[in-house]
Amino acid sequence: MGIVGGGQGSFIGRVHVTAAVLDNRAALVAGAFSSDAARSKASAADYDVPENRAYGSYAEMFEKERGLPTGERIDFVSVATPNHMHFPVAKAALEAGFHVVCDKPLTLTLAEAEALAKVVAASKSVFVVTHNYTGYPLVRQAREMILSGQLGEVQAIRAEYIQGWLRTRLESEGQKQAAWRTDPTKSGAAGCFGDIGTHAYNLGRYMTGLLPETISANLKIFVPDRPLDDYGHAVIRYENGALGTVTASQISHGRENDVRIQIDGTLGSLEWHQEEPNKMIVRHNGKPHAIYTRDPNAPFMNGSGKAACRLPSGHPEAFFEAFANVYRAGFDAMVEAATGGSPEREDTIYPNIHDGVEGMYFIEQSVASSKADGAWLPLKHPLARR
Ligand code: NAD
Repeated sequence: MGIVGGGQGSFIGRVHVTAAVLDNRAALVAGAFSSDAARSKASAADYDVPENRAYGSYAEMFEKERGLPTGERIDFVSVATPNHMHFPVAKAALEAGFHVVCDKPLTLTLAEAEALAKVVAASKSVFVVTHNYTGYPLVRQAREMILSGQLGEVQAIRAEYIQGWLRTRLESEGQKQAAWRTDPTKSGAAGCFGDIGTHAYNLGRYMTGLLPETISANLKIFVPDRPLDDYGHAVIRYENGALGTVTASQISHGRENDVRIQIDGTLGSLEWHQEEPNKMIVRHNGKPHAIYTRDPNAPFMNGSGKAACRLPSGHPEAFFEAFANVYRAGFDAMVEAATGGSPEREDTIYPNIHDGVEGMYFIEQSVASSKADGAWLPLKHPLARR
């Protein structure tokens, strides 16, 4: 594994590395940890990466690693930089022949995402997008239940991602994560909606498989002098007639990483919250509410749910393990590719380039709809996962 990003003082890079190594199927051996060469080299020691493989830039890493013998060089690159660097880094990694695990949102713009999809299609590489909430065992359980018809026809999806950390202008106080997320040149066309609204939207798409048709959105900047939205909601009409809502906030006092989803079908409904990820509520009119717990040995767990568990029930699994499940599915595909197979690229367990493009379309159409006073705009992208 080689990583781009994850330098000292950063957030998600360390999570990528921890998730990747959780099952002993990867080892971090190289990195371009920061845009600053000295900081990149200083960060390497924190990961036990030897000095000679702590690179001053991602371009240098790809060039030097490509020159190493197979078996020594990195097999895949994880991209954990701010959004504006995803496209150049991921494209260069693919062109150098590496598999890629890229964080969300896929790119800075939809045009970049579409261009990247072409590079992926022309390559033999596996491309994973870390919409990590798809890795939770009960999310996978719910997905299989829904796709096998246990909830009947899905008619409503309510997805939310509610935070409170940008209630004040943290970006003006030198807080790094806040600074780039509120800067359109680094974050993209949307702030909150791009950063976390995309996760909520992706979760509904992943769990139900419903294809979207149109979107009407209303984004808002509540904190003065901030250039990008910090709150918003969107209504989505799905092809089968279902209605969805996505609400995302970064200004709600006391709210942490409250991702929650509720899905209503003709035969039943379900509800899952990521801050209590080992439980899911399933309801049927006239019956007691059922609480599913994450239990790999329970008869009510299906194959997808069981396969995503590592620990017996009651020992909480959470963010790292879910993230690692996304990696694990990506590794299976990488192994298949390395042993002469041609792994599935569209209908994958892990979020892929199609989901990444859809996320970017969701962002751009949300922003455009909001600017047009909530006008209904198309949301089904030609590259949408089917
Ligand atoms: P961060 O600011 O904490 O870290 C970014 C890192 O990238 C820093 O170490 C920085 O030095 C490095 N970097 C910047 N430009 C670089 C370059 N040219 N070459 C090498 N390194 C470079 O940001 P973060 O909060 O960790 O977010 C990083 C990405 O991960 C973003 O795209 C964000 O949307 C995404 N993210 C995803 C999740 C998730 O749950 N999947 C959570 C947080 C962040």
